[in-house]
Amino acid sequence: MASLLLTNIAQLLAAYDSAPAVLRGKQMQNLPLIEQAYLLIEEDKIAAFGLMKDCELRADKEIDCSNRIVLPGFCDSHSHIVFAGDRSHELSLKNQGMDYQAIANAGGGILSTVKQVREVEEEELFDQSMQRLYDVISMGTLALEIKSGYGLDFDSELKMLRVIRRMKMESPIPIKATFLAAHAIPPEFTGNKEGYIQEIIEQMLPVVAKEGLADFIDVFCEQGYFTVTDTERILEAGSKRNLLGKVHVNQFNSIGGVQAAVDAKAISVDHLEEFTSVDLQAIRDSNTIAVGLPNCSLYLGIPYTPARLLIDENIAFALASDYNPGSSPSGNMQLVMALACIKMKLSTEEALLASTVNGAHAMSMAHTGSIALGQSANVIISKPIHSYRQFGYSFGANLVDHVIINGKTV
Ligand SMILES: [Zn+2]
Repeated sequence: MASLLLTNIAQLLAAYDSAPAVLRGKQMQNLPLIEQAYLLIEEDKIAAFGLMKDCELRADKEIDCSNRIVLPGFCDSHSHIVFAGDRSHELSLKNQGMDYQAIANAGGGILSTVKQVREVEEEELFDQSMQRLYDVISMGTLALEIKSGYGLDFDSELKMLRVIRRMKMESPIPIKATFLAAHAIPPEFTGNKEGYIQEIIEQMLPVVAKEGLADFIDVFCEQGYFTVTDTERILEAGSKRNLLGKVHVNQFNSIGGVQAAVDAKAISVDHLEEFTSVDLQAIRDSNTIAVGLPNCSLYLGIPYTPARLLIDENIAFALASDYNPGSSPSGNMQLVMALACIKMKLSTEEALLASTVNGAHAMSMAHTGSIALGQSANVIISKPIHSYRQFGYSFGANLVDHVIINGKTV
């Protein structure tokens, strides 16, 4: 049995007696930490850990982690990492004073990504997406959710989902797929949203489910996109095919989508930049996880999700990147954590646990996201740093030296 021993770890983080359930409230402040620790990995699982002074183990390979921090890999539960091209030129248009609608009218915006995804060969889409995947792995993301939603027609949505399926097979890290045809109304259905919803429910969804192409179903519930009633219908259709909901909701307006998602037993509600007392009542006492996406707030200049309130109200909270070409062109979870500390007033402990333990739960991946016996051995070894608090403080830095995925150094 192949074994790997990490020795002299300055701080081993998120080390639990057994894999934790989703964390809430004050549990988020309690970051289990062992100073001067060891960690033993056998094959692809965590086999033992504890104080270095008690360690008498030997392994096939040993890595000295003096002055370094070891922690579970980041679990990014919300990304749109499969896309073609980029929209970097739109930033200068925006800075010249063009608003979202003007950029869209000039051929930009989400529909420009849709056009590029429709035109690109599947192989090329895969190659571009894998490049981004390896970039985020190098920054510590060791579990990832990826959405469709830039095809918006039968062939192109399936193309995206097939690319994600191939990424699942060829990627070293675990990936979950989300069917997000209800991301926007495609141009062919302008003025006929009902026709597009029928296309999603009656044409696309049966094939997606039959071929096992998705783990979750998602809807952009927002004024001008999909209403609360549309969201309920699409989530119900997904539920009948065993797809749990993950909903884009309350990004710009609070229209009742949180209640609809909770009623549909959605695994997560994501965005929540606009959040009312009605939304709070809706999600309180539910099992639905609230997901904040601070990179998107930074890029668009919109409010940050009220994460401080959510945690104080005992609501399960996770952090994710929302990596996408239009509103969050970064999958850097270290930046996500720093923004959560700087802008959302989270403690470093809360930000770390929201990005690991709770991120894993927000995509039904309880086997990863923490250090515990039997957990998948997906861990980060930091550069030499004095304290894990650097993760909430050194914004823009890459503190990840290297990663271990399924027990293998990468
Ligand atoms: Zn998103």
